[in-house]
Amino acid sequence: MGDEALFRAGEVVLLVDLRRGKRHLLTLRLGQAFHSDRGFIPHDALVGHPEGMVAVTTRGARYLALRPTLAEYVLEMPRGAQIIYPKDLATIALFADVGPGETVVEAGLGSGALTLVLLRLVGPTGRVVAYETREEFARRAQRNIEARLGPGVPLTVRAQDVYLGIEEREVDRVVLDLPEPWRLVAAAAGALRAGGVFCAYVPTIPQSQRVHEALAAHPAFALAETFETLLRPWNIAGPSVRPAHRMVAHTGFLTLARRVQPDADGRAEPVLLDASGEDADPTAGAGPEVA
Ligand code: SAH
Repeated sequence: MGDEALFRAGEVVLLVDLRRGKRHLLTLRLGQAFHSDRGFIPHDALVGHPEGMVAVTTRGARYLALRPTLAEYVLEMPRGAQIIYPKDLATIALFADVGPGETVVEAGLGSGALTLVLLRLVGPTGRVVAYETREEFARRAQRNIEARLGPGVPLTVRAQDVYLGIEEREVDRVVLDLPEPWRLVAAAAGALRAGGVFCAYVPTIPQSQRVHEALAAHPAFALAETFETLLRPWNIAGPSVRPAHRMVAHTGFLTLARRVQPDADGRAEPVLLDASGEDADPTAGAGPEVA
């Protein structure tokens, strides 16, 4: 194992209490200690050791030490605003189809959970522009992002009210997590390149309905869809194989749409769907032709 694989001072480590499951993030600093109600672990006991080791407190409690996955990191990092949960972050990644080299406009930055995912997806050749009105949230998010990715990430934070307008043009994706995304449908139409994706995450159905209807009514958007993602953990322990007693029953709803060319009468071509979600009559020519 190369030395670079061993824990170093300055990096973020996840400690998992092996008896109670409780998780803690800490930044390793020589001379400091992690304190629990069952004794402490000097950071020096971790530095220079491999990931996956078990560290034992002075009173015998066992903690598993790992570099956090991105999902573990966003759940444990300090929060200003409420974060988007990993199940929804994962869904946004593929349904908003964010990829390497792309430019994504995001609002609001919040605690930076979604931003961290977007930065991973666009990679070093892409760019994320995040609008955030609350300075203290922006600072917190930037600390969270720098602790994970270091300095020099392709992120621009705009300390301004995004409802007043999106400055960027020809962007690939617009991803919104703020209370009134319908107010940004026209601005997103101006910012997105043709074929780009609009994605809004909101916690209630009246909000989803409003943004969905605004997208459906806008000539430069098509294929509006709204859905939620449920994740149900299972307990698998010997004969007890069943859903866990508790789950996160509700987070939010996603509404997506594509930026299209408005047609001559100012409306995107409708695709007629029946209740099964199949094309009502694929030969009728209502939808776009696919060669
Ligand atoms: N997606 C973020 C959480 C965003 S919470 C995460 O995963 O961490 C919503 C954020 O939008 C809040 O920080 C709020 O301050 C910001 N916000 C609300 N209205 C805004 C506006 N008009 N312009 C810019 N930011 C706004």
